[in-house]
Amino acid sequence: MDTRKNFGGLDIFKMIAAFLVVAIHTSPLTSFNTTADFFLTRELARLAVPFFFMVTGHFVLSDRLWGQERDYGPIWRYLGKTGILYGIAILLYLPIGIYAGHYEDLTPYRVVQMLVFDGTFYHLWYFPALILGILIVCLLGRFCKLGVSLAVTAVLYLIGLFGDSYFGLIADVPGVSQAYELGFRLFSYTRNGLFLAPIFLVMGAWLKRGSEKIKPLPNAVSFGVSFCLMTAEGLILRHYDIQRHDSMYLLLPVCMFFLYRLLLTWNRKSVGAFRTISTWIYILHPAMIVVVRRATKVVHQRATVFLVENSLIHYITVCICSTVAALAIAMVLARFRRASFERDRAWIELDMEALGHNVRTLQGLLPDNCQLMPAVKAEGYGHGAVLISKELNRLGVKAFCVASVPEGIQLRKAGVKGEILVLGYTHPRQFDLLRRYRLIQTVVDMSFAEELHKYGKKLRVHIAVDTGMHRIGIKYDQVDEICQIFEWKNLKVDGMFTHLCVSDSDEERRIKFTKAQGEAFFRLVEQLKERGHECPKKHLVASNGVLNYPEFAGDYARVGIALYGVRSTNEDMNRADVVLKPVLSLKARVASVRELASGEGAGYGLAFVAKRPTKLATITIGYADGLSRLLSGGRGSVLIRGHRVPIAGRVCMDQTLVDVTGIPDVQAGDIAVLIGRSGSEVLTAYDMAKAAGTITNEVFTSLGARLTRMVKPRG
Ligand SMILES: *Cc1c(COP(=O)(O)O)cnc(C)c1O
Repeated sequence: MDTRKNFGGLDIFKMIAAFLVVAIHTSPLTSFNTTADFFLTRELARLAVPFFFMVTGHFVLSDRLWGQERDYGPIWRYLGKTGILYGIAILLYLPIGIYAGHYEDLTPYRVVQMLVFDGTFYHLWYFPALILGILIVCLLGRFCKLGVSLAVTAVLYLIGLFGDSYFGLIADVPGVSQAYELGFRLFSYTRNGLFLAPIFLVMGAWLKRGSEKIKPLPNAVSFGVSFCLMTAEGLILRHYDIQRHDSMYLLLPVCMFFLYRLLLTWNRKSVGAFRTISTWIYILHPAMIVVVRRATKVVHQRATVFLVENSLIHYITVCICSTVAALAIAMVLARFRRASFERDRAWIELDMEALGHNVRTLQGLLPDNCQLMPAVKAEGYGHGAVLISKELNRLGVKAFCVASVPEGIQLRKAGVKGEILVLGYTHPRQFDLLRRYRLIQTVVDMSFAEELHKYGKKLRVHIAVDTGMHRIGIKYDQVDEICQIFEWKNLKVDGMFTHLCVSDSDEERRIKFTKAQGEAFFRLVEQLKERGHECPKKHLVASNGVLNYPEFAGDYARVGIALYGVRSTNEDMNRADVVLKPVLSLKARVASVRELASGEGAGYGLAFVAKRPTKLATITIGYADGLSRLLSGGRGSVLIRGHRVPIAGRVCMDQTLVDVTGIPDVQAGDIAVLIGRSGSEVLTAYDMAKAAGTITNEVFTSLGARLTRMVKPRG
């Protein structure tokens, strides 16, 4: 749920909708004008509950019922959660209901009726409606296409309509009115899970499709017009006293259609907290109405007059109290959730202040016209591609490189903005995805360029130029071929780049080689210009290039490892004046501590042998999490309680033994630091890379999917 794209518009409207529901139950404008109050509470506020249903249809039902593969699992889980919330709400309102005399002369049927249709307290009808509605829509989804489901639910809505706002029209029609009377023995209103909820659930599922291409203005206008018409509809029905209840209008689904589309175009960052808070405002506000009334009576007569009798002030007071209570609950829940598993076993902590520092430092080394184009391939060098890229977006970074199309899609789905360049080969089957997710493809050689051209639709590309690395790219002297690429109509050449392969070295011949690479690239740029092809973006340097050859920076610097605050090895040609800060820490827990007598062995192969009475701690991380097996036998170390201790025996898949002999108080639950700081001791990614005979890049990209990735709290 938290990897939604930019659905901030929906989240904000959820809050507005919650306050509209409070309005329905407090009638804020009655002190002033009853028609104005009718407009607010019986027309405008009627947008709220259908909106909640549509959001559920969009996020919970759409892909699961009408996507590529049917998948009921998440739907059942959602129903379970809704059921629990309903249960809590029932219990919460039981005392108030009893006190108000809602449950006098209960029959067994009345209990069922309340639980399934009416709700056990007046506003609680929403939960059973949601549950019943989802069940009906699942049934439809099982057997019908989306269009048919929409038609069926529209018919249900029409039936409901004549039991609601249009009841007056059929109240005297023989046969029909009896049928409705019979219905009203089953449920008190037709605005329930059978007639009202299904259409909006299906509409939400439907509107999910193609939501990227909607334009705001036409939808705003259409919503405005349809809402005015619905207002007129409501006022006319009210004038002729046709309504039995006032939840359902003919034009309500039309209004909702345009409103929802409009909100989808409101491209803001999702605010998860609003979802929780709005739900709790919804659940709690009737209790707050009671609380406000009671409290003012206890305090003073004057308080009652002030806070309850003026309908608008009463409304605002209830809104404030409900929001405060909902916030408190949301905070407790967030704490509980975070505590639930983020740091329970083995995890990565990201220091975003360090990331910001690195961005500013690297940018400072580059000329003003050169932008950072960070490499966030391989899950952002193991750090977490989405977390890192979104933070980079916030820091003003507007271009990224990835290694593959799925990596690019992952970023787009998370709402990452800016250019995304795929640095490597892409199978032609995925060319469609390049367009759909606005990715730029690298031309890896001439025959691949032809494939791209033959695809037949416009693709944005950067041409890779081989200036001596001989991995990918068209050779720098094949000017005719490169001109050909510029001339192919289907290829939009946005850029051209080469990659330096020895820019880390301070050996004379390596420096010469690197300079020759740069010169070959820029000569090609000139030759193309002479033949009329101006190349928009040019780039050469990666991390070592920025640090050692900033004069080669073109329009972009494809920084990877340096951005994460680390060099590949300590032997890299170093610019002493550049200080980068590591972003990542890797931590796990001590699971168990035990004593071994001298001579006892431990772990697979009994590879560890105690040479003295020994204390071993088992920590909850292994090679499946990226802790290399090459660190076995004391080559790698870990920090516990500020002490550096060696790995004992062989690293296992999920657990590792460390020798904590002589370190006092080590116990289960302690934090073991594998990369990062503990007390005054620090273990760096180099330390680990060196011990495992590799480079930091490999240490990072080996970090497993099972690790939780979290942002270290600031300060
Ligand atoms: C991975 C990669 C980068 C980033 O390299 P670092 O050395 O980590 O900065 C840049 N360019 C290309 C083509 C790459 O493949």
